[in-house]
Amino acid sequence: MNAKLDSTVTTRPVTRQTFDEVLVPTYAPSAMVPVRGAGLDLWDQNGKQYLDFTSGIAVNSLGHCHPVLVEALTKQANTLWHLGNGYTNEPVLRLALALTEATFADRAFFCNSGAEANEAALKLARKHAHTKFGAQKSRIVSCFHSFHGRTLFTVSVGGQAKYTEGFEPLPPSIDHIPYNDIEAAQMAITDDVCAVVVEPVQGEGGVVPADADFLKELRALCDKTGAVLIFDEVQCGMGRTGDLFAYMGYGVTPDILTSAKALGNGYPIGAMLTTNELAKNLGVGSHGTTYGGNPMAATVALNVLETINQPAFLARVKEASKNLVATLQKVVADYPQVFTTVRGSGLLLGMVVAEGFKGRSKDIQKAAEAQGLMLLIAGTEVVRLAPALIVSDAQIAQADRLLRAALDDLLKAA
Ligand SMILES: *Cc1c(COP(=O)(O)O)cnc(C)c1O
Repeated sequence: MNAKLDSTVTTRPVTRQTFDEVLVPTYAPSAMVPVRGAGLDLWDQNGKQYLDFTSGIAVNSLGHCHPVLVEALTKQANTLWHLGNGYTNEPVLRLALALTEATFADRAFFCNSGAEANEAALKLARKHAHTKFGAQKSRIVSCFHSFHGRTLFTVSVGGQAKYTEGFEPLPPSIDHIPYNDIEAAQMAITDDVCAVVVEPVQGEGGVVPADADFLKELRALCDKTGAVLIFDEVQCGMGRTGDLFAYMGYGVTPDILTSAKALGNGYPIGAMLTTNELAKNLGVGSHGTTYGGNPMAATVALNVLETINQPAFLARVKEASKNLVATLQKVVADYPQVFTTVRGSGLLLGMVVAEGFKGRSKDIQKAAEAQGLMLLIAGTEVVRLAPALIVSDAQIAQADRLLRAALDDLLKAA
């Protein structure tokens, strides 16, 4: 190793300021830089401790540095990292077996992110329609306020104009309907539609669960028109709602399900799950990615799945959800100037800001962080909570105290 180069790299101090100097400014991260985590606890560069109710945007669902995952990853790191798609590997075969045994799916395709999982799902839907019905069956129907990732295709399918502005021309043949609007779905889903994409719980769009009747109608309309029903469970899947996947709680089965985020608990992996009938459309060479399902990522995901997909674990998620919802409802009742309602599903919850705090979700997030509680926002009008699924009742009580202290600070300052 070149000693001079090494010391140059390691001795420059890194701070939040460094971000503004050398990172492409796509994000506006917090002023504090976390350096270490354990469970739901996190410490910043100054040693200040935080209670993490973000899970890295519903990713670290087993908390930071979960011992089972650390052990599995360390063992795999000493065994085999990567092969390339000319070879398969044992961890990915086990993961595919486990995911297909646990769900409606017969087959899995692995990639590295939610956007890539959705990209694969959309491409598969197009290919299927192309093969079975012809090129005219190409329209994709999605929902306003949905979020499906940041590739050009997935931002175009996503229902938020702010993410496509300036990136035109966009892929054509994509239409949006209001979420939970059955009549709009009936109008939009006609014979030229190849795919309908929906989040069973809209995450980025403000933490809004789908109505069961809406999902059932989408299923019926897809069956009638031969369109493929895609559930984007990148955020709401992997135990977040208290079911392994949200579709199980709704009793509506998609043709394709996408997963990522919590699937790797922070180790990048995405998955597209589907049926035998659909999968056969993606033959050798038709789609792929270098890292998808490599032994490291597959090992982590397998251990995540084994830990989460236990009746006792999922029952506890539902119990913790009940406690957290009740706790937040009391906060809403005690701070009507700040919040109007609590909504969401499982441990993916949103507190909707009141008229007097319009546009100020970020201020609430900042005040909470100052008190040592990390929260998310979902747009300007919703404070989002997504604690690790292992959150204890004591930690919920602690979050309650810190949130109330933050709201008192905000109201004093006003
Ligand atoms: C985060 C998210 C994505 C995108 O996942 P990336 O890993 O960031 O590409 C897609 N869909 C939903 C519902 C998400 O929440």
